[in-house]
Amino acid sequence: QGTVVAVDGTSGSGKSSTCRAVAARLGLAYLDTGAMFRAMTWWMLEQGVDVHDAAAVAERCEEPRIVSGTDPEAPTIHVDGTDVAAAIRTDAVTGSVSPVSTVPAVRARLLTMQREVIAEAVRGTGIVVEGRDIGSVVAPDAPVKLYLTADPAARAARRAAEEGGSDLAATQAVLLDRDRIDSSRATAPLTMAEGAVHIDTTPFTLDEVVAQVVGLVRA
Ligand code: C5P
Repeated sequence: QGTVVAVDGTSGSGKSSTCRAVAARLGLAYLDTGAMFRAMTWWMLEQGVDVHDAAAVAERCEEPRIVSGTDPEAPTIHVDGTDVAAAIRTDAVTGSVSPVSTVPAVRARLLTMQREVIAEAVRGTGIVVEGRDIGSVVAPDAPVKLYLTADPAARAARRAAEEGGSDLAATQAVLLDRDRIDSSRATAPLTMAEGAVHIDTTPFTLDEVVAQVVGLVRA
């Protein structure tokens, strides 16, 4: 039976890079649950659904077929057969993903899909799963749970660099706003799961964080 590594944390903490590298190093599958929430949000915007109308979002959220490819070297995400890997990273989607993620029907549907992906991977070598509620809700029995954070300034610098040199102050404001909504919402707020190991990634390079996590998984 394969292992499950549950990784939660704030945006810009180095979560995605860390999870992909750890999964590749250990021969595990990789699931980015944030990409699933983004794919759902992208579809709502495409359909012209008002993302601030929770009832409207709930009513339509069973419709899109969202498929996540779990190769850590080349993760993919498709909605109804369309590759949305780039489309889900636009400012429009980033600005609308928090309200969509608070809708319980959205979380329930994606939870079912996430558990299916995990069950399949566990029949193989296992999986690294990243998100906001993995250690607390999606995979509370995961043998390894991590909680990754970083200083807001360090996170904004990383995200701005990823985005090809966008404005630092603006990037930091957007990150903090998303954190505030993600942490204060009633449904599945971002919190450190019971039994999780907290790593503040601020002083470390990616390779150093990856080495720490690989050590924890092998222990
Ligand atoms: O990880 P990423 O920043 O791409 O996630 C986008 C958004 O999806 C988060 O801001 C959060 O609102 C939502 N999310 C969530 N639960 C997860 C993963 C992401 O609510 N497990």
